[in-house]
Amino acid sequence: MSINYYKDCKYNIDFDVDTVLKEIDNDCNSRIKQIRRSDDLQHIRSESKKTQRQRIIKKEEALNLKGLQAHLIDGVYLPFNPNWTKVAINLSGGADSACLTFLLSDIILKNNYNCKIDIITHTRVYNARPWAGPVSKKVYQKLKQLYPTIIGERYSNFIPPELEHGAIGNIVGKRSADQITVDSFNTYIQYENDYDAIYNATTKNPSMDVPTKDRMRNRDINLKKVRMDDLAKNKADFWRIMPLKMIEKDWVVKQYMDHDKLDLFKTTRSCEGDGNGVDKLAGLDLYWYKHNQGSHIPECGQCFWCVERQWAMKENKLEF
Ligand SMILES: [Zn+2]
Repeated sequence: MSINYYKDCKYNIDFDVDTVLKEIDNDCNSRIKQIRRSDDLQHIRSESKKTQRQRIIKKEEALNLKGLQAHLIDGVYLPFNPNWTKVAINLSGGADSACLTFLLSDIILKNNYNCKIDIITHTRVYNARPWAGPVSKKVYQKLKQLYPTIIGERYSNFIPPELEHGAIGNIVGKRSADQITVDSFNTYIQYENDYDAIYNATTKNPSMDVPTKDRMRNRDINLKKVRMDDLAKNKADFWRIMPLKMIEKDWVVKQYMDHDKLDLFKTTRSCEGDGNGVDKLAGLDLYWYKHNQGSHIPECGQCFWCVERQWAMKENKLEF
């Protein structure tokens, strides 16, 4: 099936993008090493900058050879292949994944691509945050209203709370059962539905002065170490694309403002506070929610995700 991706591509389809990207890095690094031997500081600066720019251009070209076209949105490249007909996106109900979904839908509309987007939601800790599922459904419905010809089905996967990392830690090496279930479900549903790509909208931790302790450490990205294939990985039968890995939530909030999608932004929810705690949500547990569905659930204002969202809104001078 992967051959379909390159049906219009005149280049060798056995071309290994990982190797090529590594070669580009090696070439650029040795060039920079050489430049640094010079005594002329001005020369070192300008030549290094030039080499870094070449690195980006060459990597883009390499991805284009593989059939990916990087669409530039506000300084961020969203890789997409014009020949794709069906992709999926992991949509949690949070601001990042809803943002990536509307940006991809806009790319499809604007370029007249013939591609549908299905939604995959991983249902997690329903017993602590019973409203998370309904929020993700609402976000899906809103996206479907906005893009009725593009947004397709919604598939939901269930992760037992008993298997969450928070409950039992890692189970195989450095991998937790919830990570394995998420990856495995994505692979399974890709197999079932023949997706050309699955997108994930994980962003980088914000550059706040004091990083919060409860942040997810795997979102601490060292920008110098990110390679293009971290953002777009060619799996056996499909592409796994994480285009927002290098950007922070303030960029996401800006897209909602720039694209007139604040109504959608308000439907999303980032807070991971739950009804078993002692904060604003105390007492709003599973049994309460069962009889109060549709009630407004306040944000705790204290969890990492609340702090990050407030930071991103402040960066954009956005207040409700
Ligand atoms: Zn919160």
